[in-house]
Amino acid sequence: MLPRLASASLTALLRPASNSGGLSRTLAVAAAQMAGGTGGDTSAGLLHFCVVGSGPAGFYTADKLLKRFGADARVDVVEALPTPFGLVRSGVAPDHADTKNVINQFTALATDSRLAFLGNVRVGRDIGLPELRAHYNAVVLCYGAESDRRLGVPGEELPGVLSAREFVWWYNGHPEYRDLPIDLSSTRSVAIAGLGNVAVDCARILLKAADDVAATDICSHAVEQLRASAVKEVHLLGRRGPVQAAFTPKELRELLGLKGVKVVMDPGAFQLSPECEAEMKATRMKKRMFELLSKVLAEPRQGERSLHIHFLRTPVAVVEQEGRASGVKVEKTRLEAAAQPGGASRALGTGEYETVPADLVLKSIGFKSVGIPGVAFDERAGVVPNLLGQVYAEGDSSFDPGLYVCGWLKRGPSGIIGTNLVDAEQTVDTMLRTRDSFPAVQSPQPGSAGLKVLLEQRGVQAVSFQGWQRVDAAEVQRGQAQGKPREKITDVQEMLQLAAGAA
Ligand SMILES: Cc1cc2nc3c(=O)[nH]c(=O)nc-3n(C[C@H](O)[C@H](O)[C@H](O)COP(=O)(O)OP(=O)(O)OC[C@H]3O[C@@H](n4cnc5c(N)ncnc54)[C@H](O)[C@@H]3O)c2cc1C
Repeated sequence: MLPRLASASLTALLRPASNSGGLSRTLAVAAAQMAGGTGGDTSAGLLHFCVVGSGPAGFYTADKLLKRFGADARVDVVEALPTPFGLVRSGVAPDHADTKNVINQFTALATDSRLAFLGNVRVGRDIGLPELRAHYNAVVLCYGAESDRRLGVPGEELPGVLSAREFVWWYNGHPEYRDLPIDLSSTRSVAIAGLGNVAVDCARILLKAADDVAATDICSHAVEQLRASAVKEVHLLGRRGPVQAAFTPKELRELLGLKGVKVVMDPGAFQLSPECEAEMKATRMKKRMFELLSKVLAEPRQGERSLHIHFLRTPVAVVEQEGRASGVKVEKTRLEAAAQPGGASRALGTGEYETVPADLVLKSIGFKSVGIPGVAFDERAGVVPNLLGQVYAEGDSSFDPGLYVCGWLKRGPSGIIGTNLVDAEQTVDTMLRTRDSFPAVQSPQPGSAGLKVLLEQRGVQAVSFQGWQRVDAAEVQRGQAQGKPREKITDVQEMLQLAAGAA
């Protein structure tokens, strides 16, 4: 029998410094029993899991947890917004409706009686991570990336400079970005730094005829702006050449084929060094993209609007006029072949500069995750340090028992929706392998039961999945009246009113 423990030593038992398996688990279970909590042991009862974030990583993790841990598993998905689905709702382009079909799969999962959704609960604001963990045997952090990589050039903070994330969250109705100061009626030229698919999405939305996007789930405030838009030119800026661009052929083909848009590129960028030629020929996708771009270069067409793809140009400053952005000063670059075969070539400055006109500058060089108190965070890499999803303890090389990570927060902001499925499999495999290290639940009421009490005491209205479905129904109804699949509600208070009282 264990001696009575002071709370500090109890906590130490519940959070052993290393992934030491059997002994720590036995002690943790015993300590929790003394404290009236639930042990992390299926024979002693249920296993309570919390998934933080309801994007693809969150839902795929919840799915795998329910499948792999079976009937004894209970999964609560805690989400900062009243709405689920992360970037499937706030990132994926409105004119790519089919990509959002995965929402049907996540919705079916949410009807499983072993899963509870608690929207409008931000971990780190409404509840601290240590408090949350006290209710669960294991917590999986899937809270994505809510910040941006910086360009690190003078003028980056000027009015008229936004990140692509902010712009995308604006047209997709993220509640915190719906009031972004964007005035397309006085914007003639837009520069977008970056040559990835997010940059392509932004360029396409800006260049496409407003009527062609109006019937999608894009927010009506964005449609109004697109209808009044004065945008005539969009400039994509990339440090490296057409072989190294990060966009993918399907997205590129769609952009290059936009009606009424002429494409302008410097033929010089298509004269490949032998190393670039080899790099291009080594991958089918790169070869396909090079062919697509070369074809457009060889067959110029006219259009009212123009898309300029500037390869081999790196932004060095945002140019200011009357207190706001008026252009981007770029340095021409040349490519230095990688030292190792198969390595990435480097863009080196040539000392030659030019200025690209831009009333609006979008930085599309990558999203970035942010840390929350109570978990180790690698600021440089922008990820929670982990091994196959198991989180390292803060300032330590041992693991933090019962804490796991998945999605963009685990591996950085890259990969498509499906990548998170594979990632969730890996994290849940690790959880199965390390289940003996799960700490006991410290709260007298484990899982969502205890969490809801705490949230109610704090005046936080948690939105259930049924609550979200009321919001969803209202959005669809409003959309139908406007001939679109939904009109997103972007006001949190309005969503909370609609969701109030749902089971
Ligand atoms: C603009 C854009 C377009 C894209 N288009 C496509 C596409 O067409 N096809 C495709 O396959 N992939 C696309 N992707 C990639 C895809 O969206 C990502 O791979 C995927 O969303 C990452 O999943 P995640 O769960 O890690 O993060 P997210 O989807 O970002 O989910 C994170 C969730 O955590 C929540 N959260 C954040 N902080 C907290 C907190 N403190 N407490 C509680 N909850 C929190 C957020 O609100 C969010 O709901 C696109 C990405 C972007 C940015």
